[in-house]
Amino acid sequence: MRWMIAVTAVAALLPFGLSGEYALLVATQLWVFYMVVVGLNLLTGYGGQTSIGHGALVAVGAYVAAIGMVDYKLSFWLALPLAMLGTGAAGALMALPTFRLSTWYFALITLGFARVISGLLVELEPITHGFSGVIGVPMPRVGGYEFSGRAFYWLVLALAFLAYLVTSNLIGSRYGRALMALRDNPLAGIGAGISLGRLKIMAFVYSAALAGAGGAMFAVQKTVITPEDFTTDLSIFFLLVVVLGGLGRRHGPLIGALAFFLLPELLTDLQKWRMLIYGAGLLLLTIYAPDGIAGALEGWFGRFRPRKAAASAPVSALPQLAGAELAVAAVTKTFGGVTAVADLSLQVPAGTVHAVVGPNGSGKTTLLNLITGFYPVDGGRILVAGTDVVGRGATAIARGGVRRTFQTPKLIPGLSVIENVMLGAFTAETASLAEVALNLPRARREAAERRAEAMSYLRFVGLDVRADDPAGDIPHGQQRLIEIARALVGRPSLLLLDEPAAGLSLAELDGLCALIKAIAALGTTVVIVEHHLDLVASLAQSVTVLDRGHLLAAGTPEAVFRDPGVIAAYMGARALSGTEASHAA
Ligand code: ADP
Ligand code: MG
Repeated sequence: MRWMIAVTAVAALLPFGLSGEYALLVATQLWVFYMVVVGLNLLTGYGGQTSIGHGALVAVGAYVAAIGMVDYKLSFWLALPLAMLGTGAAGALMALPTFRLSTWYFALITLGFARVISGLLVELEPITHGFSGVIGVPMPRVGGYEFSGRAFYWLVLALAFLAYLVTSNLIGSRYGRALMALRDNPLAGIGAGISLGRLKIMAFVYSAALAGAGGAMFAVQKTVITPEDFTTDLSIFFLLVVVLGGLGRRHGPLIGALAFFLLPELLTDLQKWRMLIYGAGLLLLTIYAPDGIAGALEGWFGRFRPRKAAASAPVSALPQLAGAELAVAAVTKTFGGVTAVADLSLQVPAGTVHAVVGPNGSGKTTLLNLITGFYPVDGGRILVAGTDVVGRGATAIARGGVRRTFQTPKLIPGLSVIENVMLGAFTAETASLAEVALNLPRARREAAERRAEAMSYLRFVGLDVRADDPAGDIPHGQQRLIEIARALVGRPSLLLLDEPAAGLSLAELDGLCALIKAIAALGTTVVIVEHHLDLVASLAQSVTVLDRGHLLAAGTPEAVFRDPGVIAAYMGARALSGTEASHAA
């Protein structure tokens, strides 16, 4: 933020030092492109949705504004929002194929989209004036005052700064965290109850609207626009600037625009080498700075920055949770020829701890995936608090209060530990998109409350001291604790834990045991998949033992671990440790 204010201040003084029309033109164009690239960075850098078609969105914005102002005599102040609306709609259309296609196929679709738009600019001649384009786009005016020359530059700069500010607010909010989940670990987002489809559409519409604003400014600046202004090269140029500047870095767009637009533009002798410079830059950076220039700079400066201690936030008492009863009735799931769960039924009374045990491959994780809606069932019913959740979809089930952890922890490495926890509260946040984008008081207050709440849960699992560390730096065993905090912050009525003890030391195991007892004391119903039988015996009121998808035994831990069938299965599957054997005997 401080950086951007400083850069904007310097940029605002620039026209006094520049000589000549051309220099001002280049400086204006820099901020026009910056605006486009800021939006693309949100979509591609943070959301992981690659668009090779952004040049086409700029074209749509430019044409809507130009046609509106020239043919319909609209004022610039009306043409600009119209251009943003038009591109926003185009962006929503562009987002639709992402629901069915994987990332790279989708990127190709955006390229196709760009070609179609290029074609339409020529073909829809009655509207677009074909090859001759739109001529005589007027400058914006207020009353008798015309924004031309320096004044137009300042207008563009102000809008570019606004674009930075709003985008920055969004990235720091729940939407930014959700976008990074979409990019790095979609399942974590779904498990937190986030509708990734809506999120994608939002990101596309937002970044398209910024491209549209850029397009409108582009048209005004050029005064004449033709289809030739918007070739595929332009789309590729935007993507290159974002990637080389630093994907998903706050200052990536600025650094990229300076290095790959301004620099070649200034070195006029190098103009004809431009594409070569991009190519060489791409090669060198992918080898030496895979996170772009901004990423390399962050890494470099990060070395000199002292590690900051975790901010101490006020910690409040945790609220009680209303446990839900779980009933699984005759549920079956097969994968090809493998029956992972076979006609399984189990009952877990509200507010109790139930353990699911069984050798590897016996269907424990699959059972959790069925309860949470991550996999559809092949048959049977699953009731949570008396409501059948079969067919409701994973997002809806998570929103309904069923939260989980994963056997392999699914954290967002680019977010801090506490931000990973806050992801779990996405659906509980009430500040609207507009309030968040403008960072209005209510959004600020809520953000502080959410942080404090997440900190309480982090302290509850014993990781508050690491709140501000990158989640990627946390060892595997503790990552599970972060996942538990993320699940708890969603106030679950049913909490499903998939092998939380895997990879923990003996000392940590005791801590985990105490933690799960404390979670149960909060009132939520807990289903825990666990290998350590002594842990199970000291935690769970009831146990289900699975063997190759079938129910082997069910009941209290004492009864189940005395069952000869269970002993046989366990002795067959793995050697028992001394303590486990004493429970089993
Ligand atoms: P557990 O968690 O008890 O170790 P799982 O539920 O992961 O067992 O797996 C049960 C069986 O289902 C295994 O044979 C496994 O290979 C199979 N299975 C699980 N998930 C899938 C999947 N997505 N696709 C195909 N087979 C799967
Ligand atoms: Mg498993």
